[in-house]
Amino acid sequence: MDHFNLYNSLSKKKEIFEPITPGTVKMYVCGPTVYDLLHVGNFRGLIFFNVLRNWLKHLGYSVNYVYNYTDIDDKIIKKSKEEDKLVSEISSKFIQEFENDFKLLKISKASHNPKCTDYINDIISFISDLIEKKFAYVRNNNVFFSCKKFSAYGKLSGKNIEDLISGHRITINQDKENPIDFVLWKPSDHGEPGWESPWGRGRPGWHIECSVMANAILGDQIDIHGGGMDLIFPHHENEIAQSESKTGKKFAKYWVHNNFIKFDDQKMSKSLGNIIKARTFMTDYNPEILKYMILSVHYRSSINFSFKQIQQSIISLIKIYTALEQAQNTIKGECNISNISYFKEELEIVQTSFNNDINTPIVFAQIFNVIRKFNNAFKNEKNENIAKEFLAFFSLVGSILSLFSEKPKKILFELNLILLKEKNISLKQIEIEIKKRDKSRKEKNYKESDLIRDELLGKGIELKDTIDGTQWSVKL
Ligand SMILES: [Zn+2]
Repeated sequence: MDHFNLYNSLSKKKEIFEPITPGTVKMYVCGPTVYDLLHVGNFRGLIFFNVLRNWLKHLGYSVNYVYNYTDIDDKIIKKSKEEDKLVSEISSKFIQEFENDFKLLKISKASHNPKCTDYINDIISFISDLIEKKFAYVRNNNVFFSCKKFSAYGKLSGKNIEDLISGHRITINQDKENPIDFVLWKPSDHGEPGWESPWGRGRPGWHIECSVMANAILGDQIDIHGGGMDLIFPHHENEIAQSESKTGKKFAKYWVHNNFIKFDDQKMSKSLGNIIKARTFMTDYNPEILKYMILSVHYRSSINFSFKQIQQSIISLIKIYTALEQAQNTIKGECNISNISYFKEELEIVQTSFNNDINTPIVFAQIFNVIRKFNNAFKNEKNENIAKEFLAFFSLVGSILSLFSEKPKKILFELNLILLKEKNISLKQIEIEIKKRDKSRKEKNYKESDLIRDELLGKGIELKDTIDGTQWSVKL
């Protein structure tokens, strides 16, 4: 099998993936600041890095995956003041909310979900070490990192330290030696959460927590550090500066960043704040649709969320699950198959595509080639072996994408219901028509029953008579 190639934001090219310790992968991904429900944009990283982890595991690596919660931050403090609640009440509430959303996604948990406030002692000793090594300095109960002391500053973002300095004509914080220096520790005002430290009562800055938690859980050097593109500067640049100044070793071997989700669609923009919450999306639509939409675009390209795209994803999922249902209904007994030969070519392209920087759009194209091949084979006669191979293909690809494991009958009903809603037809209306038709058929009034069927078809609803009774679906 060919190598796994992964795009590294540090070298700005695809590199052959080779972990520091053979057989194991240490991966740290920056998680959410917990003060509100998360947006679908936050979920893009979650969904992509899950696939990256799954692919690494498929390749045989054991993966130690850390996804943190930022549970102390100005935004959380602001919210706690507005709502007259403790900071810890706000953060634990939204960690719980996040975990509820996460469960809906049906993806495996990270190996660790550390919270910043559980690592305050490690943060204090990490900062003390940076001060001792003269990479950081204390001013009026603040501790700042001195960017000029770290000669490689800017290596991830490609920014030049002199340009950065000249871009800052006005010094906002008088305590800083240099405007681009960033805070490691800051004093807490009365009534704000704080911890005793050698520099007075205070709390950590944002950047330091990730360096510390990555170090405490995974060690001095990690294989993959991930997050959204917006974190490259300054957050990840600062993490590199802190970690490498402390250890003298290269912090992360591969820096992996996912692109954003855009909401250019007019109609979608109007409902901003509503649909863009992952919770709302998953309850109004379906978590399977969210995963499908996000993974149908390469993780380094931006996604333009639109109603049209949602609808296309629903239609694609209906096609997939309809074929899955047919395959499941065809086989008798267990489906334990170890060798996929009928879809071998497609499976090979799928593997090559995952190996090529997790190229999920090509994977999806192959999925539809497999569907086409399956449907063509089944046009004339049902073939149990092809059905078994088809299910084996989907079980393998689905386990990497964390997709296609729903019960076809249930999800097809739900997906059709969404399309029905968009047509402004109620389920009740259809059920009444089906009952009327059943009655006409029993009375052998076929003229009437055909009329009902044709009228529904005119509205875009297809009826199919099965052994379980009459089933409806939206015409695609
Ligand atoms: Zn981080």
